[in-house]
Amino acid sequence: MKKILSFLLAAALLSGCVMTGCKKSESSSKKDEKKIAASTDKYRNFYQIFMYSFADSNGDHVGDFNGITEQLDYLNDGDPNGGNDLGIDGLWLTPITPSESYHKYSVEDYYNVDPSFGTLDDFDKMLEECHKRGISVIIDLVLNHISYKNPLFLSACDEVRQGKLDGDAEYFEFHEPSYYTPSTKVIQVGDFVCEANFSETMPEWNLTSQKTRDEFTKIAKFWLDRGVDGFRLDAVKYFENKHTDGVEFLKWFTDTCRGIKSDVYLVGEEWADTADIETLYASGIDSLFAFRFAESSGEIVQSVSTSNGQSLAKKLVNYDKKMTAANPGYINAMFLSNHDQVRIANSLESRGLAAQKFAANVYLLTPGNSFTYYGEELGMRAEKTDDPTDKDRYYRQAMVFDSDNPQDITVNGFKTTQMPTGGGVKQQLEDKNSLLNHYRKLYTAKLQNPSLARGRATEQQSFDDKAVCAFYVEKDGEKLLVIHNFSEKEAKTLEITDEMLKNAEIAISMPTSDDGDKIVLSDGKLTLPAYSSVVLRSAA
Ligand code: CA
Ligand code: CA
Ligand code: CA
Repeated sequence: MKKILSFLLAAALLSGCVMTGCKKSESSSKKDEKKIAASTDKYRNFYQIFMYSFADSNGDHVGDFNGITEQLDYLNDGDPNGGNDLGIDGLWLTPITPSESYHKYSVEDYYNVDPSFGTLDDFDKMLEECHKRGISVIIDLVLNHISYKNPLFLSACDEVRQGKLDGDAEYFEFHEPSYYTPSTKVIQVGDFVCEANFSETMPEWNLTSQKTRDEFTKIAKFWLDRGVDGFRLDAVKYFENKHTDGVEFLKWFTDTCRGIKSDVYLVGEEWADTADIETLYASGIDSLFAFRFAESSGEIVQSVSTSNGQSLAKKLVNYDKKMTAANPGYINAMFLSNHDQVRIANSLESRGLAAQKFAANVYLLTPGNSFTYYGEELGMRAEKTDDPTDKDRYYRQAMVFDSDNPQDITVNGFKTTQMPTGGGVKQQLEDKNSLLNHYRKLYTAKLQNPSLARGRATEQQSFDDKAVCAFYVEKDGEKLLVIHNFSEKEAKTLEITDEMLKNAEIAISMPTSDDGDKIVLSDGKLTLPAYSSVVLRSAA
């Protein structure tokens, strides 16, 4: 049977040669027809939803769980091989727990949902619908700090005022004022102070206390037993302090979660330099966001600005090697922007739509998981502001499903002021050259080629051209070559030798121009138009 099949395959390939010329493949390749199996492991294309601003189902101007459920046909219709959906298969929800703040990063109750987002029943329904469609859901978990209004903290304050430090005060960083250096941010309670790096409303947990760890175990169990697939851990940067070993704490929490749910997925936020991220990977945590490649000052946008792809390839490979050494099972977590950063369209839009599509190619075609901030797929912009006190709200405006009929969500009192140039979801779905349709193609291509996400960036290939970013990705004997042309105007012709990839064929083809510039591989010559990307694979 096998022999007959390979004979038929050879015949088919041969006739293909006659039809199109030998060793030639074009961007509209037959790979498009490849059936996708939905992911069942931790490798996902995540979509970050800022709860307050994504979708309001009941007209109270606040996003909610039912709003997300109503929009699931947009995010993922449950059919990985068709439909008009975006095609993400993971969701990260910013904090859902009760809080007086609109962003909810100061938690008043770890065991409930904020009533403005709906009920626990609404949350469960949303979760069930997500799982039916193969979307895994992780929620933001804030373990560094708590709300000053949380009953446990209020009880601790009562005790501290009476000079009692061995009761509930042990949950928090209460110390004599002399314990801290003058530069440490603290809040005063009676004769004592509690560390509070973010704000006076966010006192910090004592992460070395057994009491705290017992409480955290209960919290993790509460949500994992409910069905959430993992957590995005907030402010990991601040876990370490004078008496807490941040890596030890992170290892303890990772192990604890795995004890509750063996396939839990954890991704942490540490925005400092790469050396600190490398140190934290020793905890065994699955992922830490790769901050150095994100936002307007990060490596991807800077490489687009300078048309220097060659040095980016080197940095991506070095990063992957370093983190793999620190944690062999690590999953890189690439993103372009998040809720704390100016939207990426602000820095790319002036270079045109192709530059925005190209930046998406670069982060999505890197091994590991990807995180797309809601509206990034539309090119949503943040209004420029000189207001230093509340600039964040400009990065968190309401998702634009229909730019002719925008949602009436007011974030911290302010409505969406910026409509994406290409329109909302409705408008961009109808435009085959839109940024949204480009993202849809990228997710499909990634799902059709699962070894790209799951492999390791092993080596750079320079091509002696500063504009070309090229690196190998290897996974279980399969070898891919990812190539991006960072030149804004010039097409590149690159020679692909058999030493690079035996009988290379195009696995993924991502041009960005509207006028149909094709990516062509013919007789070992690869034509790569400006701002376009290709992934080659060794033919079997
Ligand atoms: Ca609502
Ligand atoms: Ca689909
Ligand atoms: Ca802390």
